[in-house]
Amino acid sequence: FLTRMMPIYDDAGMIVQWFGTSTDITEQKRLEQQKDEFIGIASHELKTPVTSLKAYTQLLERRFRKDGDARASELLHKMDGQLNRLTGLIKDLLDVTKIESGKLIFQNSTFELNALIDEIVEETQRTTLTHTIHQELSAPAMVCGDRDRLGQVLINLLTNAIKYSPQAGKILVKTAYRDKYIVTSIQDFGIGIPKERHTQVFERFFRVEGENQTTYPGLGLGLYISAEFVKRHHGSIWIESEEGKGTTVSFSLPLEHASNMVESEYKNER
Ligand code: ADP
Repeated sequence: FLTRMMPIYDDAGMIVQWFGTSTDITEQKRLEQQKDEFIGIASHELKTPVTSLKAYTQLLERRFRKDGDARASELLHKMDGQLNRLTGLIKDLLDVTKIESGKLIFQNSTFELNALIDEIVEETQRTTLTHTIHQELSAPAMVCGDRDRLGQVLINLLTNAIKYSPQAGKILVKTAYRDKYIVTSIQDFGIGIPKERHTQVFERFFRVEGENQTTYPGLGLGLYISAEFVKRHHGSIWIESEEGKGTTVSFSLPLEHASNMVESEYKNER
């Protein structure tokens, strides 16, 4: 049952009565569970054929390239790119079911965050000719967490920054110390997000409505998954954005051995 209560006050501001409603949400919960189960099964079933398709595509691409057929090899390269997108979407759906069923497992280790950022930036930079990703990184920052999952957060935020700033080619990635935390922020100079939507963008399947629904493809899961991962690492995530000016998404992570770290004049600008 979902119970909602509201106090009723007298003239002196004292509560004289409580007014409430109780709604049976068993059916609603059951449907939600069924939906999650369906998403889980469907994405799991999609994963195997897509993985095989990817292997065949790469094999053919290599073959055509070796034979000197540039056109066929280029088309297969594009196919491989689309299959990567599909794999990413399936992975997101599988992650959602893991989050919802409490089955998300992290493989934790202690690692240096800026090195991970550097790797992911380099990887993402290779996928775009339209944008240049600049870095302004702090002194080395040791964190404890799942390196792959945190890498996934960075990929999600960088991909969004590129996707939602078609007219502006600059992306800025910064890290900075804040108390016992290291804050990473990814800034773009793109379309921005209306103020009233700032909290909603972290909800599951939420996409800012309007033209953007068809212009920019996506499932509305990247920020939800990123927020869940960050929260599970005892950090927080937030957004600063202005329509037409751009967006900065930041997240904090607790520093490992925070008391031993000293900020130095280390900057790595690209
Ligand atoms: P997706 O991009 O797949 O829709 P996300 O969960 O990553 O899903 O983002 C949710 C919504 O938030 C997006 O649909 C988009 O409207 C908005 N959004 C996210 N990042 C940005 C950004 N950098 N600039 C503008 N809008 C953004």
